[in-house]
Amino acid sequence: MPQRIVQSCKVLIGLEIHVQLATRSKMFTGAANAAANFGAEPNSLVDEQVLGLPGVLPVMNRKAVEYSIKVGLALGCQIARFTKWDRKSYYYPDLPKNYQISQYDLPLCYQGTFDIPDEDGTARTIRIRRAHLEEDAGKLLHDAPGGYHIGYTIVDLNRAGTPLLEIVTEPDLTTPRQVATFAQELQKLVQYLGVSDGQMQMGHMRFEPNINVHITDGDGQVHRTAITEIKNLNSFAVLEKASAYEIQRQINEWIDTGSLGRKSTYGWDDARQCTFLQRTKEEAQDYRYFPDPDLPPVVVNDAWLAELKGQIGELPAQRRKRYIEAIGLSAFDAGVLTADRATGDLFDGAVAAGGNAKRVANLLLSHGNRIANERGVSLGSLGLKPVRLAELAQLIDQNKVAPAEPAGKVLARLIEVDAPAEQIAAELGLIQSSDAGPIDAAIEALLAQDPRPLQDYRAGKQAAFGALVGMVMKQAKGLNPKVVQERLKQRLG
Ligand code: MN
Repeated sequence: MPQRIVQSCKVLIGLEIHVQLATRSKMFTGAANAAANFGAEPNSLVDEQVLGLPGVLPVMNRKAVEYSIKVGLALGCQIARFTKWDRKSYYYPDLPKNYQISQYDLPLCYQGTFDIPDEDGTARTIRIRRAHLEEDAGKLLHDAPGGYHIGYTIVDLNRAGTPLLEIVTEPDLTTPRQVATFAQELQKLVQYLGVSDGQMQMGHMRFEPNINVHITDGDGQVHRTAITEIKNLNSFAVLEKASAYEIQRQINEWIDTGSLGRKSTYGWDDARQCTFLQRTKEEAQDYRYFPDPDLPPVVVNDAWLAELKGQIGELPAQRRKRYIEAIGLSAFDAGVLTADRATGDLFDGAVAAGGNAKRVANLLLSHGNRIANERGVSLGSLGLKPVRLAELAQLIDQNKVAPAEPAGKVLARLIEVDAPAEQIAAELGLIQSSDAGPIDAAIEALLAQDPRPLQDYRAGKQAAFGALVGMVMKQAKGLNPKVVQERLKQRLG
C-alpha cells in the first residue's frame, strides 16, 4: 500500500447564504410573509399563487428588489441595470408549482467584496461572486409531533414564496473560524440595513459552505479533493463545527483510500456531530433553467439606484472605522459600540447632544454594559435617551457626579425615568460638593481628631495622604474628592 503523506494543506471554502427578507408580503404574491409571522399556524400564509393553482400569475415585490440592491451595494457589488427571472425546475412536495422562480445568468448583484476582521484583527477581503433574489420553498415535516402524523410526512407551505436573497462568495475563506465570522458580520449588516431580522433560530439565515482541500503530498504533488457542500446550517457554532469536520473528513479519506471524493452534498448530523452524504450533486442543466414568461424583466435606472444609495447611510464597518480613527476608541470598544445599529445610534446621539465622546463611551462600556448584561439586552435597547446620557457625561466632566459608583446609579435610574440627569443625581443625593465651605469643615473636623495617618503624614510618610483624603470624604456625604485633595494639601502646607 502506498504511503500517503500530507506535507501541507490549502483549504478553500466558499459560502452560500440564504437570507429571508423582512418584507410584508411574499416575493411574487400578496400573501403575508412568513419571515415576519414566525410561528403562524401551518398553511395559514398561503393563497392561490403559493399553492400553484392553474392560471395564477406572479407579481414582483418591488420592496424585496430594493432590499436586495441595498445589500448588494453594502457588499460593494455591481448592480445589474437589466435583470430577469428564471424558472428553476424541480419536482418536490414543498414546491407546488414544480419550479422555483430565481435568477440564473443575470443576478441582480455581482462582483463585490466584503471585509471581515481576521483572527489577528486585521481586515480580510472576501470576494462576493453574486447575490440573486428568489423565492423560498415550503417545509416538510417528517414524523411531526402529535402521534397522528407518525409515519407520514406533512407539508407546511407558509414559507413557500418568502423573498430569499442568495449570496455566494468566492472560495476565499480558509478556516472554519473565518466562515463563522463572515456569517456573523453578514448578520450584522442585514440587521443594520433593516432588510432582515437575521434571527438564526427563526430560520432567517441559512448557510451552505462549499469545501475542498488542496493537499500537497510528500513528493510535492498536489491533490485536489472534490468540492462538497454542507446543506442548511442555521447556527454560527454548527457552521464552524461542520466546516472543520468536513475539512478533516476529506483529508482523512485521501490518506486512508487515496480517493479525492465526488462532488456531492452533505448534511450535518447534530446528534452524532458529523457530516453525512446526502446525494451526489445535480448539474445546472438538470434544473432546466429558462426565463419565466410571466414576469417582465427588471430595469434599474440611475434615479432608483441613487435613491437607494441615499437610504443606506453609514455601514457598521465604516462606523467602527470612524470610532477608531476619529474618536480614538480601541478596536474592541468600537466593536461593542457598533454591535447593533441602536447602540451606535445611542452613542452618536449622546455625542451630538454635547457629551464628550470618550466620557460617553466610558459610561456605556462600563455601567451601561453591566446593566445590559444583567438584563440580557443590547446597550441600544436599554431605553436610555441620548440626551440624558450626554447630560450625565457633562455632570462628570463638571465634577458634579463621581464617575464610578455614583454615575452608575444615576445611569441605572435614567433608564427608568426620563428626567434631567442633574435632577436624578440630586434626588439620589449623588451631587458632590465642590464648595470649599463644607470641604474645609470636614477637614477641620478630621484634623481635630488627630488620627494616626495625620501623625504619620506629619512624620514624613507621603503615602498616608491617600488615607487622610478617604477619612475626610467620610466626614460628610457627596464631597468632590478632587477638591478635597487640593484643600487638604493646602491646609497641611
Ligand atoms: Mn438558492
